Amino acid sequence: MRDKQIEKLIEAEEKRQKSVVNLIASENFVSPDVLRALGSVFTNKYAEGYPGKRYYAGCETVDELENVVKTRALKLFKLSPRAWSVNVQPYSGSPANLAVYLALLKPGEKITGMSLAAGGHLTHGAKISASGKLWRGVHYGLDRKTEQLDYGAILRIAKKERPKILIAGWSAYSRKPDFKKFRKIADAVGATFMVDISHFAGLIAGDVYPSPFPYADIVTTTTQKTLRGPRAALIFSRAKYAKAIDRAVFPGVQGGPHMNVVAAVGVSLYEASRPEFKRYAKQVVKNAQVLSDALARLGWRIVSGGTDSHLFSIDTMMCGVSGGEAEALLEKAGIIVNRESIPFDIRSPQDPSGIRIGTAAVTTRGMKERDMIRLARAIDRILRNGNRR
Ligand SMILES: *Cc1c(COP(=O)(O)O)cnc(C)c1O
Repeated sequence: MRDKQIEKLIEAEEKRQKSVVNLIASENFVSPDVLRALGSVFTNKYAEGYPGKRYYAGCETVDELENVVKTRALKLFKLSPRAWSVNVQPYSGSPANLAVYLALLKPGEKITGMSLAAGGHLTHGAKISASGKLWRGVHYGLDRKTEQLDYGAILRIAKKERPKILIAGWSAYSRKPDFKKFRKIADAVGATFMVDISHFAGLIAGDVYPSPFPYADIVTTTTQKTLRGPRAALIFSRAKYAKAIDRAVFPGVQGGPHMNVVAAVGVSLYEASRPEFKRYAKQVVKNAQVLSDALARLGWRIVSGGTDSHLFSIDTMMCGVSGGEAEALLEKAGIIVNRESIPFDIRSPQDPSGIRIGTAAVTTRGMKERDMIRLARAIDRILRNGNRR
C-alpha cells in the first residue's frame, strides 16, 4: 500500500486482533473469502434501485449478484420465495430497523420491544435513538426473580399500550424465547410481529436456536455477528409487506447499495449453508455454556443462571468490581469484553454492574471446552486480583 500511515494502522489492528482473546458477543472473524468480496471492484459500482429497475447503466452483473444473494438468504432460513421476500441492501442493522418502522408506521405510533436496560437494542424505540424520537417506544423488561422473559407481563403492556409493532430480539438476553407466545400477544392486540435476530442469526442458521420464521411477519438481522459475515443487514418480510419495505430501504432511508458488501454477504451465506457451519454454531453454544458454568462454579453470578446461546452476562459487582473496572482489568490482560447493565441495575450504563461475554469469535479461532475452562480461571483470577489492589 502506498499510504503508509493507513497500512501501518491496518497492520496494528491485525496484530491486536491476533494477540487478544475476543469475547465481545457482537463480534466475529470473517473468512479471507468474505474479505476478498469486501475488497472487490463491486465497491466502484452505483446501483440505486433494485435488480431490473436501476437508476444507472452497467448493472447486469450487480443485478445477477443481488438476485443470487437474495436466493441464498431465503434458502439458508428455509423460506419459500412465494411466502417471503428479502431485502439485502441495508447498510447495517440500525438502518434496517429504521426502514421497517418507516414502512409500517406513521410518525408517533408505538413500538414495543425490550428496554435497553434489560438487554434490548437502541433501535427498538430507545429515547436517544431516532427510533424513539420519531416513534414512541414502550418497553417490556424481565422478570425480577428469574431474569427471564415474562410473557404475562408483556401481554399486559401490549394490551395497555396497543403498539403497532411488537418486537422480539435482543442484544444481551441469553435465553431461548418462545416465539409462538410472542405471536399470540401480537395477535391479541393486532400488532405486526417483528423479530430482530441480529445476535442469533448464525445460531438459527446452524439449527441450535429456535427459528422465528414460522411466527414472525418481519425478521431483521445484522450479518456481522454470529452469522460471521460483513457489517450489513437483511430484512425478511412476508409477501404483503415486501413492497413497502423495499421502498423504505431505497429511497426511504438509503441511496446506492454497497454492492461489495452485498457480495460479501453472499459469501457468508454460502459459508453458513455448509455442514461445517452447523458444527461451528453448536460449538459456539457449547463453549458459552461451559464458560458460564465454570465461572458460576468459581463463584460468579450469571444473569438468569446460565445461557442457551452464544452470550451471557455476569454480575461483577457481586465481587466488588464494577463493569467498567472489569472491562479495563481484563483488557490489560488481553481479554476483550464489554461492560453491560444487568437486569434492574442500580448503577449507570457508563459503569454498570456487569460485563457481557460471547463465544462466537473465539470459537471461530478454534477454541473448545478445555480452553473455556482455562479462560474462566483466568477471568476469575484477573478480576479477584484487581479487586484486591
Ligand atoms: C447489533 C444490533 C443491531 C444494530 O446493528 P448495527 O449493525 O450496529 O447497526 C440491531 N439490533 C440488535 C438486536 C442488535 O444486536
